[in-house]
Amino acid sequence: MPIVAVSMSKSDLVALDELHNDAGFPSRSGVIRHALYALLAEHKSLEQAKGQVTVIMIVVYGERGKDDQCNRVQIKYSPLITATMHAHSTQGGCFEVVVANGEASKLHSFTKELRSQRQVTSVQTCLVEA
Ligand SMILES: [Zn+2]
Repeated sequence: MPIVAVSMSKSDLVALDELHNDAGFPSRSGVIRHALYALLAEHKSLEQAKGQVTVIMIVVYGERGKDDQCNRVQIKYSPLITATMHAHSTQGGCFEVVVANGEASKLHSFTKELRSQRQVTSVQTCLVEA
């Protein structure tokens, strides 16, 4: 099996070790593989969707919060956005819940552009089938 070096913040490493120790994963690599499979399933779900769909996105921002680049991406896709909620966690973390309707391929592009932003830590999507 190939070995891949991954750089991460100290807080991410603490979270990785917590998952390794508390969630029953056999190793740090096991945690990373599980996260990769979960992301692949989510990615394929939206990538393979066709026609008009609804997606709920949870966008988590880095330490400096949402920046202008992230705002530009949201403005670009604003015709698809039906609701947003921006909030801060008890520890000051910055995040948003975004609901968007539209062509699946456009929503897939939206999530890809959000994920590529430096200030975006993670984007989780949930395809609404109802
Ligand atoms: Zn914020």
